[in-house]
Amino acid sequence: MPGEHDAIENLLAESRTFPPPPEFTAEANVSDPSVYDEAAEDLERFWEREASQFHWYREWDSVLHWEPPVAQWFLNGTTNITHNCLDRHVESGGGEKVAFHWEGEPGDTRTITYSALLRDVCKAANVLKRLGIETGDRVAIYMPMIPEIIVAMLACARIGAPHTVVFGGFSADALVDRIHDCGAKLIITADGGWRRGQVTDLKGAADQAFDDAPTVDMKLVVKRTGHDIAWDDDQDIWWHEAMDAADEQCDPVEVDSEHMLYLLYTSGTTGKPKGIKHTTGGYMVGTASTHRWVFDIKPEDVYWCAADVGWVTGHSYIVYGPLLNHTTSVMYEGTPDFPDKDRWWDIIERYGVSILYCAPTAIRMFMKWGDEYPGSRDLSSLRLLGTVGEPINPEAWMWYRQVIGGDRCPIVDTWWQTETGTIMISPLPGLTTTKPGSATFPLPGVDADVVDDTGESVPLGHGGYLVLRKPWPAMLRGIYGDDERYYETYWSRFPGCYFAGDGAKRDEEGYLWLLGRVDDVMNVSGHRISTTEVESALVEHDAVAEAAVVGRLDAVTGQAVAAFVVLRSGVDGTDAMLDELRSHVAERIGPFAKPKSIVFTPDLPKTRSGKIMRRLLRDISEDRQLGDVTTLANADIVAEISDKATTSPGED
Ligand code: ATP
Ligand code: MG
Repeated sequence: MPGEHDAIENLLAESRTFPPPPEFTAEANVSDPSVYDEAAEDLERFWEREASQFHWYREWDSVLHWEPPVAQWFLNGTTNITHNCLDRHVESGGGEKVAFHWEGEPGDTRTITYSALLRDVCKAANVLKRLGIETGDRVAIYMPMIPEIIVAMLACARIGAPHTVVFGGFSADALVDRIHDCGAKLIITADGGWRRGQVTDLKGAADQAFDDAPTVDMKLVVKRTGHDIAWDDDQDIWWHEAMDAADEQCDPVEVDSEHMLYLLYTSGTTGKPKGIKHTTGGYMVGTASTHRWVFDIKPEDVYWCAADVGWVTGHSYIVYGPLLNHTTSVMYEGTPDFPDKDRWWDIIERYGVSILYCAPTAIRMFMKWGDEYPGSRDLSSLRLLGTVGEPINPEAWMWYRQVIGGDRCPIVDTWWQTETGTIMISPLPGLTTTKPGSATFPLPGVDADVVDDTGESVPLGHGGYLVLRKPWPAMLRGIYGDDERYYETYWSRFPGCYFAGDGAKRDEEGYLWLLGRVDDVMNVSGHRISTTEVESALVEHDAVAEAAVVGRLDAVTGQAVAAFVVLRSGVDGTDAMLDELRSHVAERIGPFAKPKSIVFTPDLPKTRSGKIMRRLLRDISEDRQLGDVTTLANADIVAEISDKATTSPGED
């Protein structure tokens, strides 16, 4: 029985199970469960075998040096990740394979082969060198979802200049903060990009950032939209002009396995962004292996990771993992509702996409829009579906399976972070029997545990804090310029363990269920309740597409559950519906979890990466002054929710 004093209680039970289809298992990249034992028995040998598939100029002396919290992988080995992403495939005759089927929002398309990508990367690397960028210099990349963002990243990696990609939806201020933190010398940007039929003003923001960023000498500007922009010959260079003049030959720079490949700042759901540092060798091995296992990548697959390159999901599973595995990918510039709400399904039909990887927030949005959009397209090319970014509510998982996956595609719910670099907890699609809403088990070589306040493992059936006990190749190597914060944030709470900041539970069969951030856990009359489980209970109701709950101060119960609910299209938010939803939660979880208030809203405040911002909802519920909302995707909704929250009819 779940204990009253658990750090986080285990409240919902799920009995549906989905074994991998036998025909999937028969062909799967991983179909022998002994891989888990092999990795557990000899972690270093396991990863050494994975590493040996790559090109190294010099082999490593030892696989791992581990002095918590500092890890080094493949010590003294030297390599270049772009050689492994590009030259290696071209040299072995795979140059004509398509690396990217790219589609712009207005409908323009480009097909980019491995040979073409290699040529562009070499030219761009020569452009960087001409601009004075040297191995070790940081380069800021601030671009839309166009092929040049990938060329820019790889050009940096080719010469060993760490890139820091700043998501194109961020403001000039966010760009400046990150440039200051890492001392970037160059900004690579574009005039703009297309988003829902509008031009985004990237160049304007880059100009503003430039004025505040003394370390930056120049801006290299891709012409994407062709709209009028300010231009200053002393600081601006057209990408296409520089590329035309550049040589097509550029040898990759041989770098140490622990050479910094990139910095990526966490999205800032929780305070000041941290420059998460990733290095070369371990990251290369980790992204390629996890991509091959989890997505079961085959030579003939057409793979689509629908994240933005600006997030870690884009770094690891649009750029590095897929290219290392010689994969053909789809890349799309714009929004899913342009020109209409079937754009994604249209893309899947036209390119014959076989693997789709996206976020729960997108899935819930499609659920809200209705089944007719995917229903009008042929999605039979799909064979595997993935999700990442937030816990996926079991009902959203079921919808994804049935409506998108035609009840035949396995789903991989992948838990990981900017910090982990690679997927850590996920089904292996040919091996794992899945349960809707569970990320299932740690991948081979990953030692994940759920612990209580004292750091002891919780028994099966209980919840607590998610920790990782062993190092892994793609793990972060620190926070740029702040070792103390690295230690404090991740390693001080449970000595010797990496603390992810997330809650989790293990069910009676040992399956892992992510329960959201521990900062969001509610304490209602002594019950430690995860937001995830109450939200999932709400989403289980037919009328609900999406829900967020927060704990707000309450004189009687300590905290009370405040819910914000997005109804499916066509459903009305009546008082009767409100009562029904409250009773539904009480029935599914218990009377103590019943929302004290419910606000119906057309949307929820989200980060630019699509995650619900519960901190803001808490402020609204408690009527506090609102904090920073600049990283919000849909800032208007805050005012709207805020109005309603003060007049909510759901109060007792
Ligand atoms: P910040 O650290 O700045 O607050 P962030 O945590 O949103 O930003 P990411 O590194 O992109 O930035 O997200 C990682 C987090 O996303 C995880 O810690 C977890 O909370 C959540 N997450 C990712 N994948 C899953 C998943 N499959 N199931 C549950 N939660 C997930
Ligand atoms: Mg985080």
